[in-house]
Amino acid sequence: MPDFLDTNITYLQGVGPKRAELLNKELNINTFGDLLWYFPYKYIDRTRFFKISELDPDLPFVQIRGVIKGYYTEGHGAGKRLVADFQDDTGSIKLVWFKGVKWITQSYTPGTEFIVFGKPGVFNGMINIIHPEIEASVKAAERVSSALQAQYNTTENLKNHFLTSRALSKLMGNLIRQMNFRLPETLPGYIVSKHNLMDIDEALRKIHFPSGNAELEKARYRLKFEELFFIQLNIIRFKSNRSRKFRGFVFSNVGDNFNNFYFNNLPFTLTDAQKKVMKEIRKDLGSGKQMNRLLQGDVGSGKTLVALMSMLIAIDNGYQACLMAPTEILANQHYQTITKLLDGINIKVRLLTGSSVRTSRKEISESLQDKSLDILIGTHALIEDSVKFGRLGLVIIDEQHRFGVEQRAKLWQKSLNPPHILVMTATPIPRTLAMTIYGDLDVSVIDELPPGRVPVKTMHFFDSERNKVFGFLRSRIAEGRQVFVVYPLIKESEKMDYKDLEDGWDTISRAFPAPEYCVSVVHGKMTSALKEESMRLFREGQADILIATTVIEVGVDIPNATVMVIESAERFGLSQLHQLRGRVGRGADQSYCILMSSVKLSKEAATRIEIMTETNDGFEIAETDLQLRGPGDIEGTMQSGIPFDLKIANLGKDGQIIEYARNIAEEIISRDPLLEESSNQILAAGLRRLFSKQQSWSNIS
Ligand code: ADP
Ligand code: MG
Repeated sequence: MPDFLDTNITYLQGVGPKRAELLNKELNINTFGDLLWYFPYKYIDRTRFFKISELDPDLPFVQIRGVIKGYYTEGHGAGKRLVADFQDDTGSIKLVWFKGVKWITQSYTPGTEFIVFGKPGVFNGMINIIHPEIEASVKAAERVSSALQAQYNTTENLKNHFLTSRALSKLMGNLIRQMNFRLPETLPGYIVSKHNLMDIDEALRKIHFPSGNAELEKARYRLKFEELFFIQLNIIRFKSNRSRKFRGFVFSNVGDNFNNFYFNNLPFTLTDAQKKVMKEIRKDLGSGKQMNRLLQGDVGSGKTLVALMSMLIAIDNGYQACLMAPTEILANQHYQTITKLLDGINIKVRLLTGSSVRTSRKEISESLQDKSLDILIGTHALIEDSVKFGRLGLVIIDEQHRFGVEQRAKLWQKSLNPPHILVMTATPIPRTLAMTIYGDLDVSVIDELPPGRVPVKTMHFFDSERNKVFGFLRSRIAEGRQVFVVYPLIKESEKMDYKDLEDGWDTISRAFPAPEYCVSVVHGKMTSALKEESMRLFREGQADILIATTVIEVGVDIPNATVMVIESAERFGLSQLHQLRGRVGRGADQSYCILMSSVKLSKEAATRIEIMTETNDGFEIAETDLQLRGPGDIEGTMQSGIPFDLKIANLGKDGQIIEYARNIAEEIISRDPLLEESSNQILAAGLRRLFSKQQSWSNIS
């Protein structure tokens, strides 16, 4: 069968070199197999025939039976068209073509009965169908019979060459008739029978020509399962190989540094969730296996503290640790927070960012090598080749969804033996999506906020209500609180966005004049020294208002700031809005998030704003985000390491199948980790077929 599926599409009945080239170019269909796996995007019930008297332009696609009475042309120039009067025993409509005139008049002889399929429209008070699909009645009866007619995506170019959805369906019929043998199974018989799956041969035939809904559902399920199962099997096998291949450093003591910090410096008691997560991490670090753990916790849940305590364990065992953050502002903040938390404890911490000066780089490099440096905090600068550790034992990546796979893989290589890895994220993603994106990581969740937090109140105002909003800000500032005002920054139009920021700055400085008020500003184009100076003014409470672009989106922790104003909120995605809102509500005071927008809102933008005002629950927001945008756009999805496009399954919507497939994959790998059993050879072959092109991206996740 591989031979058959690999046959060049040129050899299919109905496809010549020219059509082959088109299929190639437009749909990337080169072989019989490619065509067979080109699945319909929807189905139309073709059992129903409409009468012409029943037609009206509000109907979707309809099917009618009748005869062409005759052809004539109408209009001039670009509007010139071929028209046919088409009639059944209840009335007559016009069929209209703007191109392909010669082919039409030659193919469809007046007087013969035809089946016409298309979307009714109206022109000059007459019902018409533009560019209908036409088929001879007798031929329709011969066609591989199927009540549900598969609809295939095509392109303009294909349609111009008459490769319509209908034509593709015809080719599919030719292919399936030519496939006069059963395609061998791609899953072991024990899976197919135990889970009551349709076999692959039947599924592939029925997905194109289902006889009814029940059959279609079984075929779809089988093909989705197959796709998702191999993805999960690949992840689980990778994870199992990794844990067999790499021994982890054993951090057996919890020593002086940790205890000293815990008993003397810890500014508050840990939440139960933080304690639970620390236990999970300690267990990993002492196990002799290399840790690969994801720490998920909503904004403000206290992940930094967990990171610090984990690093202290590494240090207590004679190792170095590093913490990487996606922005300079956040790296800076971590450096400040951590040095302060370690006050009086003899641990050497340094900060390395793109703007670190040569001399400090040199000092850092030397102390990394001679192992006198314990903790290195920084940005992407950490992964530069020149940064070499003497004895790196633990790598922590904060806001990991902001990093690419390669960047993370580089940190892994900083040590002869792979260090323990902890990646942290506040981007809540639905659990089943996480099974694919972070499928090779063990997951810890902080599912509780520190005590005394008051949920942020979110309000929406139109630009015209700005004065009211300013009044509100004044009263909060009078109470000693601070305010963020954030402007969008979209790469494509940086100029315009800085203009937004500049205009905003003008407006706000006028409404909040010095010396009564102090306003500071931070954006990506500033030098790091200036950025840090602005942040310092705000952090130390000297500035009342911080005007910023999204450089402050992740991680920034300034509990006295209780108001987040988001300008042009309609231009932000949901996960960004949630992250930005997470900058407030970090203390015990009531905090507010104010979404400003213009009056004109798209339906989607209105939905996003509505969700934000209704809930603070990151997971609920993530679910909505997934539904609005689909999984492809969710931050982090691009890193999922699936080297092919999914043809039928949907990582967002098929969560149940993912979970089911994952359980089965886990069962198989725990029994037969290397897929050596003869009944599993078919799986090993499937993985090779699907993933052989995959790079070793996934050394780290
Ligand atoms: P995130 O999980 O978003 O990174 P942070 O680590 O920045 O959150 O913590 C948010 C705030 O909560 C910080 O000001 C931190 O000092 C505080 N915090 C962390 N843990 C606790 C705790 N157990 N009790 C009280 N406050 C805490
Ligand atoms: Mg954080």
